[in-house]
Amino acid sequence: MRTPLCVGNWKMYGTLAEARPLATGVRDGLRRVKDVQVVLCPPFTALAAVGEIVAGSSLALGAQNCHPEPSGAYTGEVAPPMLAELGCRYVILGHSERRREMGESDELINRKVRSALTHGLTPILCVGETAEERRQGLTFTTVEGQLRAGLAEVAAEAMAGVVLAYEPVWAIGTGANATPAQAGEVHGYLRGLLSELSSKDVASSIRIVYGGSVKPENAEVLAAEGEIDGALVGGASLNAQAFVTIVKKTAHAGAVRGN
Ligand code: PEP
Repeated sequence: MRTPLCVGNWKMYGTLAEARPLATGVRDGLRRVKDVQVVLCPPFTALAAVGEIVAGSSLALGAQNCHPEPSGAYTGEVAPPMLAELGCRYVILGHSERRREMGESDELINRKVRSALTHGLTPILCVGETAEERRQGLTFTTVEGQLRAGLAEVAAEAMAGVVLAYEPVWAIGTGANATPAQAGEVHGYLRGLLSELSSKDVASSIRIVYGGSVKPENAEVLAAEGEIDGALVGGASLNAQAFVTIVKKTAHAGAVRGN
């Protein structure tokens, strides 16, 4: 049984004046929720404040990116040990917005994944095809390439410490989510690859979450699909009530699935 996971990716939203009430609202709304893990990923500048708010609760703190080196002359960058020091346990890597906007390569993302693992952070490795790639029938080729490259030189046992996020680019921020069947098909394919890269046991323990226009209205039907282990949520995670509802629906679907 894989415990469902919901990750809120706040992207570049959240001054301290906005981040504090949002984190407080999520924490308070989820006080009695069980059987689900929740990670809040605010911008770097709000990590310390959000960390204080979630301390002692079941919510975990995550970052949206990191540099692969532990320190050095990299102006403007943030290193994994700095995130760990702030209480971060997760870091989103390979998000399509960074691949596209910052030109992040699979090779760079792989270095970040390995560095995160070395420094005790759980990488949430994002993979996903563009609309054009899906139209051309290249969905599996694309995600396979991203997965193999992203996990290159990661030891089989260490792979158990990774979370995978399938995020079709065409579904991110568009309001048009993948159907449970579309996502389930890709998740199943990714799990097969993980099995090949590690072992059947390790692969079956790795959470593969879905991201792309998850909202309160579709969270339950997505999480009910056997291969979907939770959600990576962008836009809807900026509203405490919406995110709390997504988490509750994901937990409920996970519990039903487990029975
Ligand atoms: C994301 O940023 O990873 C994401 C899935 O965004 P949204 O939920 O807004 O589609």
